Order: sequence, then structure tokens, then C-alpha cells
Amino acid sequence: MSKPVSAEVLRLKKEITVLKHLVYKDPLTGVFNRRGFTEEVERMMAAIEKERTHGRSKSKFSLTALGFIMLDIDNFKKLNDTYGHDAGDAALKAVAKTLESHVRQSDFVGRWGGEEFVIALLGANENDSAFVAEHLRQEIETQTLKFKNKKMLLSASFGAAEFKRRDGLESLIKKADKAMYVAKTTGKNQVVKFSQIN
Ligand code: GH3
Ligand code: MG
Ligand code: MG
Repeated sequence: MSKPVSAEVLRLKKEITVLKHLVYKDPLTGVFNRRGFTEEVERMMAAIEKERTHGRSKSKFSLTALGFIMLDIDNFKKLNDTYGHDAGDAALKAVAKTLESHVRQSDFVGRWGGEEFVIALLGANENDSAFVAEHLRQEIETQTLKFKNKKMLLSASFGAAEFKRRDGLESLIKKADKAMYVAKTTGKNQVVKFSQIN
């Protein structure tokens, strides 16, 4: 006997959820992978452009601003070399957890690559983003990670930027990346705003 249609629909829905997770999430940390993050942010940007053009939105959030943070863990290669790759993986998971637990539910956290993360902050400008980044920087710096009885300390360098009219995700990433590069090359473990360097 075949299953009732509703049970089959339910099963397919569950399967879609599982597949979406595989396609859009990073298996190690559980945050969005590059593809998932890109799709979510591009959707957000399109909504902002629409609101700026038509001046209205169905969302309860102000869609007129989008802040952006890029961060890269400092001296991560050394951590891997000293404590091992598994310890490095544990550090990545811990950082992702810190990021997700300290931003709003309306924000998006993604793993852009290796030990580099990105955050899109709905309704935030560059200053707001830098403020959040500074908070995250302090959280990461003060956290003691325990892995197999070893204690590890971490820090990260941050770049903050904001979405301007006609920016695409690519140009937004470039801005935050430039700012982060300055944070890296002028001492690490700090937050730099894109507007500071331009
Ligand atoms: P900087 O302070 O300038 O950022 O230096 P860094 O050592 O953090 O950066 P570098 O780019 O030299 O090294 C990044 C390292 O991250 C090298 C790579 O092996 C490691 N890595 C990338 N992905 C993963 C991963 O998924 N797990 C672990 N454990 N390590 C990873
Ligand atoms: Mg690094
Ligand atoms: Mg890196």
C-alpha cells in the first residue's frame, strides 16, 4: 500500500531541508558557506534597493542599511602547527559559535574560506558594524579555548564597512577586506573601518 500524500509531502519537505543544509551551510561550523551567505545577502541587497526606490517594505526591520564585517583569525597557521589540525577545527567552531551568539537573529554569519568569516548586519551602518566588531573582538580575545587539556588563546582582525547605493556584494567584500588588511598589517587583533582608510 502506498503512503498517504500528506506523509509523502512531509518526507519530501524534510529531505529538502536536509539538502538545503548541505548546499548552504559549512559542515564544520554550521554557519552559512560562501554560496549560502552570498544568496542571503544578495536577496537582502535587492530588498534594500527596492525599499530605497519605492520607500516601503513589508519587513519589520529597517531595510535601508546593511552593515558588513569581515574577520580573519590571527596566526591561525601557528595554532594548527602547535596544537594540531583538530585543535584548529575546534577553534573555528568556537569562533563561529561566538559570532552567531553575539549578533542579531536578523544578521547573517558566513564562513568565507579557511579561517575567514563574514557577517551582514541588517539595519546597521559602518559605525554600528565597527561597534559590533569591537564587541566580537573582545569576546574572542578573552575566551580561553580548551582542547584535550590544552588551553588556547585566540584573536582576530576585523574590517567594517556598509552597503552604499549601487554596491554589489563583491564591492562590499572588497571594502571590508581592504579594512581588514590594514587591521592585519598594523598590529592585528583590532577593528578598522573602511572609511578610516579612504
Ligand atoms: P594571519 O595572522 O596573517 O591571518 O596569519 P594566519 O596564520 O592566520 O594565516 P595563513 O593564511 O598563513 O594560515 C591560515 C591557515 O588556516 C592555513 C590553513 O592550513 C588553515 N586552515 C584553513 N582551513 C582550515 C580548516 O578547516 N581547519 C584547520 N584546522 N585549519 C584550516
Ligand atoms: Mg589568519
Ligand atoms: Mg586567512
